[in-house]
Amino acid sequence: MNGGATDSGLRAGLSSGGNPAYLGRCSAALEQALGATPFYAAWRAADPGLAAPVLSRYAALPALTKADIRAHFPEGFVPAGVDFETELQSGRTSYVSTSGSTADRVTLFWSQAWWDHSERASWKLNAHLRRVADGAHREAVLASPRCVGPCREGDALPVGKRTLGRLLFLNQTVNPASWTDGDRCRMLGELAAFRPAVLEADPFYLAALAAFALDRRLPVYQPAVITFTYSFPAQVFLNVIRQVFTAPLVSSHGSTETGYVFMECEHGRMHQNTDSCHVDFVPLESRVSGTVLGRLLVTPFGHPVQSFVRFDVGDLAERSPTQPCLCGRREGLTLERIVGRSADVTLTRDGRRVTVADADAVLAEEPAVRGFQIDQSDAGELRVRLVLAPHAAGDVPRRAERRLADLYDFPVVAEAVAALEHEASGKVRLARRTGG
Ligand SMILES: [Zn+2]
Repeated sequence: MNGGATDSGLRAGLSSGGNPAYLGRCSAALEQALGATPFYAAWRAADPGLAAPVLSRYAALPALTKADIRAHFPEGFVPAGVDFETELQSGRTSYVSTSGSTADRVTLFWSQAWWDHSERASWKLNAHLRRVADGAHREAVLASPRCVGPCREGDALPVGKRTLGRLLFLNQTVNPASWTDGDRCRMLGELAAFRPAVLEADPFYLAALAAFALDRRLPVYQPAVITFTYSFPAQVFLNVIRQVFTAPLVSSHGSTETGYVFMECEHGRMHQNTDSCHVDFVPLESRVSGTVLGRLLVTPFGHPVQSFVRFDVGDLAERSPTQPCLCGRREGLTLERIVGRSADVTLTRDGRRVTVADADAVLAEEPAVRGFQIDQSDAGELRVRLVLAPHAAGDVPRRAERRLADLYDFPVVAEAVAALEHEASGKVRLARRTGG
């Protein structure tokens, strides 16, 4: 191993080294890819071979990108001996297109059984979820209808058409800013009537609904657990949500490509779902807090049709300086936190990375800030749109400017706006660089 970065990455990955069952899953996924899956033929030259420890073999390989998947799907990722046409005809597998802009949308094979296995394995990583989630529990979902659930664009589906078994999909509108008061009251009413144990939410959407309930002082049904997925759980959103909901807030991290990869434990750290995937942590830099910032390359286990290895999920994370976590979970990678998309990193004047989490931490110091979007020009200047609480003091944008100017050492202009701009998928990007 040469170089501190690679060495630290291996140490992170090797923290799971003591578990033979996990290493066996890692080996099986690697052998299936390198030995039997067309796309990875080009990777074999980088493989140190069977004599090397399996996690060192992983660390020696390239990363798989969305562009690779687009260029070689489906045949490139189907292992020899798997007949995907038959799988499709059986109905066990189907095609799915991921949400996102046109530029990063990909088509994949979807297996509900594989997804469900991954999700259930993740529940044991949080004590609150393990208590209430048994696979039969009621769950309401609040997210972009372009990411999840039944939806007819421009047409309101009755609650019966949005209730699928134990799941209720609350939202039908891509942008929460276009919700009417009637939409908001309907969703709060449906939540109270359905009485889910778990509310799974995109934090951007739940913050918008919580703000409405908070400002109108409306009663809100309290689920036992709230899980966050789909987008970055910014503190500015959580600040509003915590004023309305009393349930433990649990961040979950995964994707259509990878299944459930990390779950936040009851002590606030993110634990790897080792039943379901391997994660290579690729360090980028050490941070003042003592954590290490890095990329996440995920190898999902056990998909019946497709083999993905070291898929770059596009998110950055900070690895904990002290392991193990107070919860006692020791297996796999432990993260301090996920810090946002790598594409959403902005830069200080001296070239240091500012993650979405860094900018969020600064703006969350202003209690009246309920949402933000930062745009950084090529020259470094920042324009910031702020969504503020009603009756926020008039100087909040100026205070936000000063806080961000201290962080970036660039000029900042902030303005209050009615709503954030969302992507075609309904997700919002909280920070962007020109052309990024
Ligand atoms: Zn923990």
